[in-house]
Amino acid sequence: MKAVRIHEFGGPEVLRYEDAPDPKLRKDQVLVRVKACAMNHLDVWVRKGLPGVSLPHILGSDVAGEIVEVGEYVNGFETGQRVLLAPMHFCNHCAKCMAGLQNQCPEFSVLGNRVDGGNCELVAVPAEIVIPIPDTLDFNQAASVPLVFVTAWHMLVGRAAIRPGQTVLVLGAGSGVGIAAIQVAKLFHARVIATAGNEEKLERARRLGADHGINHYKQKISEEVRTLTNKEGVDIVVEHVGEATWEHSVKCLKPGGILVTCGATTGAKAGIDLRFLYSRQLTLLGSYMGTMGDLSAVLGHVFAGRLKPVVDHTFPLEDIRAAHEYLEKSQMFGKIVLNL
Ligand SMILES: [Zn+2]
Repeated sequence: MKAVRIHEFGGPEVLRYEDAPDPKLRKDQVLVRVKACAMNHLDVWVRKGLPGVSLPHILGSDVAGEIVEVGEYVNGFETGQRVLLAPMHFCNHCAKCMAGLQNQCPEFSVLGNRVDGGNCELVAVPAEIVIPIPDTLDFNQAASVPLVFVTAWHMLVGRAAIRPGQTVLVLGAGSGVGIAAIQVAKLFHARVIATAGNEEKLERARRLGADHGINHYKQKISEEVRTLTNKEGVDIVVEHVGEATWEHSVKCLKPGGILVTCGATTGAKAGIDLRFLYSRQLTLLGSYMGTMGDLSAVLGHVFAGRLKPVVDHTFPLEDIRAAHEYLEKSQMFGKIVLNL
């Protein structure tokens, strides 16, 4: 098959579009022909080098395609079926997996991180991560859903336990997680304040349902939030920016507020004044991907049209270097999808 593999870590030049061996289908697996694979910042981090990645390696977490072969032990699927893949790898027999907490499994990894991903024509995957999609969703849309929507759902619903009518601050509204978080928060009739780096992204965030926009390069987030909330602050901050906005994120919380973070794009060293943490009785939560239960719940809303994936740009797989360069410029609003 054709695949993009990396044989060493580095810049976009290490991405090689080349021939690779077809995957061997196990009897408990499903073979999927990849039609679309959406990109995430994880692709860039893995490309630059993360521990636990063995080379050569195939990137790509968010896969949509068609079933071409079904393993002998697998029931309930047929060839030609349109599917997406849950972007996760887990053992499916430990206590955490049995409890439905796949993202706490000792073997948990994101597809395309420690296991080969979908930047290739064929993938052989365990049946439990294969999910049929409705005809109303094209492959580019389907590939744009899994990682960011399961992440946003786990942050807001699984971790922060969002309740109707709360006020939610979403940082980095133009990112995939931001776009998903705005919509999930609106599903709970929350009042949403979104931040982004330019007016165009803020306008698009408003079209997705955000009630207010803050330009984080021109305005001070904590001051704007204070004004917008009549000095109260917000119930929940959805954060993945890290160092650059951390102090503001914490300052924006009302007493008893919850900050939930799933990333540290601008840096991982953030400090906190403990007096502020205890006297205001704040909660800081970490969140990593989500569970199969989260994915199932959020897909129900996507398939019903209540949550919408946003595709920014598509590239043919062989132009993957240009796609990585585009992603690293961070000018997109929505997902970048590789097509096969
Ligand atoms: Zn497990």
